[in-house]
Amino acid sequence: MGNNARRKDGVPKRWDKIIGAVTLLTIVLFGFMIYNDFSGTSSKAAGTGGNSTAKETLPQLEHTLPENGQSSGSGEEASSEGNILSGEYVVCIDAGHGGKDYGSSRENYTEKNLTLSVAQRVKELLEESGIDVVMTRTSDTDVSYEQRIKICNDAKADAMISIHMNSAEQPSAKGAEAWIHNKKPADSQKLSEALIKSITNGTGANDRGVKYGSIGDAQKNYYVNAYSSCASTVLELGFITNSEDIKLVTDRLDETAAAIAGGIVDYLSETEG
Ligand SMILES: [Zn+2]
Repeated sequence: MGNNARRKDGVPKRWDKIIGAVTLLTIVLFGFMIYNDFSGTSSKAAGTGGNSTAKETLPQLEHTLPENGQSSGSGEEASSEGNILSGEYVVCIDAGHGGKDYGSSRENYTEKNLTLSVAQRVKELLEESGIDVVMTRTSDTDVSYEQRIKICNDAKADAMISIHMNSAEQPSAKGAEAWIHNKKPADSQKLSEALIKSITNGTGANDRGVKYGSIGDAQKNYYVNAYSSCASTVLELGFITNSEDIKLVTDRLDETAAAIAGGIVDYLSETEG
């Protein structure tokens, strides 16, 4: 208060200079602030631009991370349990035989019923992994080979797994094997290897390997392998004539189905990477 009064009364000319200096300083300060604010805004704008780019790449990251077997932090991917696949896939599950065609049998067991129960459980598990599944049959019905292939090819399936049970004179014969086209298409080979590996590791079943053509004739291919337009395999899960193998598709059905579904997912993720 005292200072103001002194200036007002004593030195009016100096007061003008002060006002002039303050005005100049204010203009300079404002100018600086405006410049600063402007560059700040523009860098914020750049930041926003950067963020939106990051947001666009983020979903891709979330898609690629699980592919590498790493867990995605959060988001939709994480909600689909156990899904490590980034792409969308269709798998054709073919329960061997059906209807009037019983396949092999032993005591009360029939191949057509066993393959159907395995196929249905595999379907559920694959769907839980986010894979679309087409079935060649869902009940005890007759389905021709042509119909089976049509279902598979019309669905543009990425893989076809035809589920069967082996049989042998000797009850000691046991184990899983997979049959592919004798021209040994690489995809079918990979699919079969992934399945056999997953089944033998997952259930302790005997490994009888991947085979070409058909039983007794390496030059003749199974119909599904000959006409499917995707990787395909005829999976002989085990021997209906062996008491241990029969458990794989009865008492241990869940375990076996999980191993099959796991092998399919392994194959699909392998072809992805
Ligand atoms: Zn069969």
